Formats: sequence, C-alpha cells, structure tokens
Amino acid sequence: MNEISSIQTRRPDHFARWERVRERLRVSYGEAIFKSWLQPLKLADVKNGQAMITVPTRFMREWIIAHYADNILRFWCQEDQTVHSVDIFVKAEPVAIHNPNAPVQHTPHAQPAGLEAAMLGAAANEDKPINPDSISAPLDPRYTFENFVVGKSNELAHAAARRVAESATVAPGSNPLFLYGGVGLGKTHLMHAIAWHIRKTDPSRKVIYLSAEKFMYLFIRAIRSKDTMAFKEYFRSVDVLMVDDVQFISGKDSTQEEFFHTFNALVDQNKQLIISGDRSPADLEGMEERVRSRLGWGLVADVHATTYELRLGILQAKLEKVPGANVPARVLEFLAHKITSNVRELEGALNRVVAHATLIGGAVTMESTQEVLHDILRANDRRITIEDIQKKVAAHFNIKVSDMHSARRSVAIARPRQIAMYLAKKLTTKSLPEIGRKFGGKDHTTVMHAVKRIDELSRGDKEFADDVELLMRMLQSAA
Ligand code: ADP
Ligand code: MG
Repeated sequence: MNEISSIQTRRPDHFARWERVRERLRVSYGEAIFKSWLQPLKLADVKNGQAMITVPTRFMREWIIAHYADNILRFWCQEDQTVHSVDIFVKAEPVAIHNPNAPVQHTPHAQPAGLEAAMLGAAANEDKPINPDSISAPLDPRYTFENFVVGKSNELAHAAARRVAESATVAPGSNPLFLYGGVGLGKTHLMHAIAWHIRKTDPSRKVIYLSAEKFMYLFIRAIRSKDTMAFKEYFRSVDVLMVDDVQFISGKDSTQEEFFHTFNALVDQNKQLIISGDRSPADLEGMEERVRSRLGWGLVADVHATTYELRLGILQAKLEKVPGANVPARVLEFLAHKITSNVRELEGALNRVVAHATLIGGAVTMESTQEVLHDILRANDRRITIEDIQKKVAAHFNIKVSDMHSARRSVAIARPRQIAMYLAKKLTTKSLPEIGRKFGGKDHTTVMHAVKRIDELSRGDKEFADDVELLMRMLQSAA
C-alpha cells in the first residue's frame, strides 16, 4: 500500500522541469558560461522538496554555489512551488541553498567559504598540468561576421572588430581592443568572428579565446600544481589573446595581477589582445587602477542597446537560415517591438515560435506567438533594473544615488541601501553576487544579510513594512 502511494506521488516530470530550468540558465548566462559551468550539472533526484544536482568536481560546486545557485533555485521554484532547496553534490558531499520563503526549513550542511579560498582548496583535487589544447574554448560556428547584423548601436564595435580581424599583425591604435556593453548584445559573437576570420586567413597565428572565469580557473590551478611557469609561457606564446567577460576577474587580486602581467607581456611583444566586459574599463569596480587604465589604452568600443530596426534585421537574417519557416512580417515586427532586452532572448523567442509551429504542424500567427511566448512577453513588459531601484530608493530617502555604491555605514545611508538590495533581490532575476557588484562591489553575503535584515524589520515594524511595500509598488507600476 505504502509502496503504491509512494510510486504515485513520485513526479516523473522532474527531468522535463530540469530541462526547462537549464534552458533558462542558458538564456540568462549565454552559451559560453553555460557550456563551461552549467552544462555539466546533472539532476540526480528530487525528493521532499529537495532538488539534488551532481557536479564533477569540488571546485565546480563552490563556483556554482557562489554564482549560479540562487538562480537555479529561483527558476526551479518557478517551475515547481514545492521545491525549497537545491543541493549540489560532489561524491555525496551535500551543500544546501535554501529558499527562505519555503515552509520546510533545513539547516544548511555547510556554508561556502570565501570564494577564492574555496577555489584554491578545491583546485588541489585537480592538480593536472595545463593541457594547451583545452585552453581555447570552442568557437561557435554561427558567430561569424557574415551572420552579424550591423546597425547604429553596434557599428563602432563591429568596425573595430573587423579592423582587428583584418590586419595581419597588431592593428595600430587598437591594442587592446576593449568591447563592452550589456548582456546579449553581440560581444561574444564579435570575438568569435574575429577568431574565425584570423584562423581562416592566417592559420599560422595562434588565436586563443577564453572566458575570464576560465583564465582565473587555469591560473589558480597552475598555482596549486606549482606550474605557473608553464601557465605564463603558454599565454605569452599566443599571437591573439581574447578574454571574454573580464568583469569576472574584478576583486580577485592574484588573478588580476597575473592577468595584468600577461597582458603587459603580450602588448610589449606586439601581440593582439581583445577583451570584453559588461562596462567600460573606467567603470570596472574592484579592478586595480593600473589594470583599469591599461585596459583603456587601446581602442574602446561600446555596444549599445539595440534599436527596433536592428532587432527586426536580426530576426529577418535569422529566419533566412531556417529553411521552410514561414513567419508573417507582422509577427516579426511584434517580436522586435516587444523583446527589447537582448538579442539572445529575441533569438530564443523566434526559435520557440518556429519550433511550436513545426511541432503542431500549424502556421505561425499572432495568436500562436502570444500564446507560446506569454512568459517572455510578460517579463519584458515589466522588467525592473537595479539602477531603477537605486534611483527610486535614493529619491525616496533623499540621499544621493552614489551612496548606493558607497561603503558609508551611517544608518541614514546604510538602511536605504539595504532596502534597495532587498528590492533588487525581490524584483529582478539577478543573483546575489551580481547585486553585490552593482552596489559598489559588495560581497554576496552583504546582500544576503540586507535581505534578512529588511525582512526582520518589516515583520517588527508596520510603518517600515508599508514604506518598503510602497516602494515596491511604485517600481512595479513604473516598469
Ligand atoms: P554578449 O556576449 O554581448 O552577451 P552574445 O555575443 O552572446 O552577447 O550574443 C547573444 C546572441 O545574440 C548570440 O546568439 C548572437 O549571435 C546574437 N547576436 C547579438 N547581436 C547580433 C547581431 N548584431 N547580429 C546577429 N546576431 C546577434
Ligand atoms: Mg558574452
């Protein structure tokens, strides 16, 4: 009897949910991060509201906990309300990340230690020498210049990338080339395009493309295996080095230091460097001044938010690559109009619409589009940014927006800052470390503490709770 009921309550669709969670992670973080960090995650089981995920190494577990676990849990909760924690295992060593709002509470097994310490410790298990073939990340065959649609918002970055790709040696005045801009606007695409172009036109040049996370990972592993010489030699032997998403290095002193030396050595040897980041070199918080200024020495090109025309152009170009797909112009215009946040989401939306029509065997219509995309469309309708929150909260408490980034501790400043962090956690999909970074490079534990504190204060003080509630409503209705 018991056995039968337990079979009946088992949910066979956990794996389908996990697939959807993975899809959302891929969309949120992009292909490169997804491949290096999230793809290796495997769902083991979901039991009593605990989702159990396995990872291959301790290092990965720490990294995932620090960077991605929040969003994994959040996405999962959106799929399945009964899940209250995501446990990440390496060889049966669980660490739990709990959803504080869930009814069932478990005490965490262990707190992740400071990230760098964790990485150093973890890397000890992986004392393998650097394998040169595995350093450059694979290039996406779709990310070529031919497939890149140029518009007002990206023409500068595109021209700069072309120029670097087409010069036989270092492009004068363009070393390093620093590309920056928001998520999903084509920075990685342009970097891969440069690499493809050089590989095709001059295969003798050694081109390395990797994420800043991977650079850091390799460096820390080299320290552990006392192999930093090989590390340095290796990087200094390349002709073109591309480091994607350099903001990940900020705050990691020893990695920054090594990055800086590698960087200088390469520039001195007249090797081409191409770096990308989510903001300009000058705005990279947690970067040492000399590293920042050096990053800005060459050509700095930004990718702006897309325009309607560019989004429509991208959709049309994309559609041409799908044989037989028939999407009415009205639907394309609707998508270009509605999905403004980033190109990755725009592509994802088009893929879903087309896939749905193929599966169902019907035509793509406005109705089917709205139905298939209702979740994305809603999210785009009311997307609140951390900057909006900081502005609104600062105005409400009559403090400066810059106080949101400061380390001032007086309650008149610190409390509004905590409220803003709290609202950022509640109203956006950003992870704790991401929120911390937006508040002047604070640690994710500071954000966690702020969220707890505001929860406590709200419970104890009706007036305070009303104030927070009011801010929340104002932000939601403005977005
Ligand atoms: P970023 O690195 O800036 O976060 P990506 O380069 O990963 O963004 O771009 C996200 C997706 O959008 C990729 O699939 C990329 O091919 C596509 N994309 C972005 N901009 C363009 C563009 N101008 N033309 C064609 N595809 C684009
Ligand atoms: Mg990218």
